[in-house]
Amino acid sequence: MDAMPSASRRERWYTSDRRYRLPSDWGRRKAAVRARARGRCQAASHAPGCNGVGTECDHIVAGDDHDLDNLQWLSHECHKAKTERENAERNRRRKLMRLHPSERQPGLLDWTPRRVGGDSPATPV
Ligand SMILES: [Zn+2]
Repeated sequence: MDAMPSASRRERWYTSDRRYRLPSDWGRRKAAVRARARGRCQAASHAPGCNGVGTECDHIVAGDDHDLDNLQWLSHECHKAKTERENAERNRRRKLMRLHPSERQPGLLDWTPRRVGGDSPATPV
């Protein structure tokens, strides 16, 4: 039984934000963000497992804006959850752009299996 099938995938998603270039005074900015947050996790809604203590500096809007206004202090759990959401959203958008869904094959519409209600047979008990 694979209890956590997406664990390795999550880890890869999470580490992918390391590619952002950081300014030379990143350490100082980070310290300022931590001090401003008084070490608390500043997530708007906390991820399960967050104990309210911040440990990581996050870009509110992902990218190269390292202004203090765009930085917040998050726990590892909340940072990970936010990064996952951002990556999922990015992948979804990329996929949409790649697919060019201007033309649909009419046959595929009938072929799609129907899902009615919430009883999924694949859900383990
Ligand atoms: Zn949190």
